[in-house]
Amino acid sequence: MCYRVAMDVTKQFRVKPGERVRLSDWDPGETLGMDREECERRLAENTEAIGRLQHRLYAEHKRSVLVVLQAMDAAGKDSTVRHVLRDVNPQGVLVTSFKRPTSNELAHDFLWRIHRRTPRRGHIRVFNRSHYEDVLVVRVESLVPKEVWSRRYDAINDFERNLCESGTEIVKIYLNISPERQREKLVRRLTDPDRAWKFEPADFETRKKWAHYMEAYEDAISRCSTDNAPWFIVPTNRKWFRLFTISQILRDTLERMDPQLPPLKIEPEAAMRLLDGID
Ligand code: AMP
Ligand code: MG
Repeated sequence: MCYRVAMDVTKQFRVKPGERVRLSDWDPGETLGMDREECERRLAENTEAIGRLQHRLYAEHKRSVLVVLQAMDAAGKDSTVRHVLRDVNPQGVLVTSFKRPTSNELAHDFLWRIHRRTPRRGHIRVFNRSHYEDVLVVRVESLVPKEVWSRRYDAINDFERNLCESGTEIVKIYLNISPERQREKLVRRLTDPDRAWKFEPADFETRKKWAHYMEAYEDAISRCSTDNAPWFIVPTNRKWFRLFTISQILRDTLERMDPQLPPLKIEPEAAMRLLDGID
């Protein structure tokens, strides 16, 4: 029973290939009738399972997982990384936060800096922002002409297909926060000395263009949710529901991959005899 509900969570928030997304149809405050206590208990079960599965993925050394996180400011990307991966051996996970491109990065095609950071076999890699910025902020701020950014959706789909065919499982998550909830979180950010350092005046510029960003997100999600590399729209207003849902999506992905420990290099008995011979 519990497992069925879990799979439903993954299915519920997945965008089907070809589906035309209207974000106003997706409630950022959704909790599927679950409460905080249940979500926190299941988050703990999920992070533990993710730790166990990642151990096998690392040992198998054949495939990898790429988790893409995209959201408006203060939606909780950083906290998602901290909580969902808390039980994973740090040896098997890497996180990359993509910032404004450097002049060297801008001197190359937009996927150059991305491709160099895709996960190696056995690893989980998290992209905190990603190549999608090149059809989001770049589009809204007109950093390149429309002819340039509008070609990028196809380039992204080709790039992601290539990664999948090379053994990388891709999971893309949009943390869906409401403007009202973002306001609360920005205020908290400004008034808490431990959080204020994260605030940038540019966050207000982005907030002012909320409708333009939603339009850009709708296009990116609609055009780039594929069987290989699906987008998930995760309700984010409640932290505990967001963390439970994202942990469930990652757990389901790893369970479906079912990584296997590699064959033994030597039978343990034979190794014991060798050891006895040495000592
Ligand atoms: P943060 O994630 O809050 O540390 O901020 C990183 C900033 O870098 C955000 O404002 C992003 O929109 C911006 N950024 C990331 N990738 C790109 C890109 N390809 N082009 C322009 N700005 C970007
Ligand atoms: Mg920021």
